[in-house]
Amino acid sequence: MTDTALILVAAGRGARAEQDIPKQYKIIEGKSVLQHTLENCFKSMRFNHIIIVISEEDSLAAKIIDQANIPARCIIGGASRTDSVRAGLKALWGQNVDHVFIHDAARPFVTKSLCQDLTAALMSCDGVAPALAVTDALKTQSGLAFDRSSVLRMQTPQAFHYDKIAAAFDTLPAGEAAADDIAIAKNYGLSIRFVEGDERNFKITFPEDFNRAKYMLQTDYYIAVGHGFDVHQFEAGGTMMLCGVPIECGYRLKGHSDADAGLHALTDAILGGLGLGDIGDHFPPTDNAHKDQDSAEFLSFAIDKVRDRGAQLQHVDLTLICEQPKIKPHRAVMRARIAELCHLSLERVSVKATTTETLGFTGRKEGLAAQAVATLKVPL
Ligand code: MG
Repeated sequence: MTDTALILVAAGRGARAEQDIPKQYKIIEGKSVLQHTLENCFKSMRFNHIIIVISEEDSLAAKIIDQANIPARCIIGGASRTDSVRAGLKALWGQNVDHVFIHDAARPFVTKSLCQDLTAALMSCDGVAPALAVTDALKTQSGLAFDRSSVLRMQTPQAFHYDKIAAAFDTLPAGEAAADDIAIAKNYGLSIRFVEGDERNFKITFPEDFNRAKYMLQTDYYIAVGHGFDVHQFEAGGTMMLCGVPIECGYRLKGHSDADAGLHALTDAILGGLGLGDIGDHFPPTDNAHKDQDSAEFLSFAIDKVRDRGAQLQHVDLTLICEQPKIKPHRAVMRARIAELCHLSLERVSVKATTTETLGFTGRKEGLAAQAVATLKVPL
């Protein structure tokens, strides 16, 4: 497995953004720019180490890491961006890092596909950067036309083989600064490549960029509502598992796995919200590996898929339909167990119960049914 690190450069003062605090700490849609960037990087790629390079004067980064609940550590950078990256690379020494991504904290819209393109490109070069063509006509200050086909707009993350870029920074004289890290790599003689950048991955630079970022945060996702339904029959003996909670009532639910209809409906609701089929597609009942399986594992699988998609589970609502067992005595612990499995706070988890007024199979106490609705915020 390739060990990949992320260095987030967040030590700059961002004077062009004309803000009272450095732009990476400015709040947009309830979170600082740095937190948006950190969360998007975390969603886009599995990094083994995350280093945030901050200025000595900044005290907010630790709180941001805490709020984002992402394993990252802060180190103090230098006077220039180059010095800060150097400090970040140094902090990774001896950690067996294969690849390192170096990214500006003021680019909150990094994507999974860009990270994948960068990783793939590292198979055939020492360093790679996202780049975009220039579409506007270019002129020099004196009005002379400038050939736009000869220039590219560079973005971050720029990705490198760690030992190569660390060596390049090692030989760079102290105080020498470069426009970006790919320039340092090229000057050192490393092989470099460019991959197609992404217009959305822009850098917050000027005051008007905050409005653009705010608009993107308000519109770069859709709300998906997934629905799940499941029924299991009662059979005598054993322990019933319902919503991940054991219930000793003298009978249990019959099925291939532990037959937890509550967690099955919930798993199907989440898979439905992601457009990923149903529980049977991923865990066929014909596969003996899932015999008597703890259904919490099915739900955890769906939760992993939410993360893989870069989505957020916002809320779940579950209704159990049965005459028996009585749900009320178990409701609080069911809710807590689901909250734990879904990594949600309690107020985002609802467990309800109803009967069918003695009608139908639930009324005849032959089994129970469960319905679930999951609300997800899914990136476009
Ligand atoms: Mg089932």
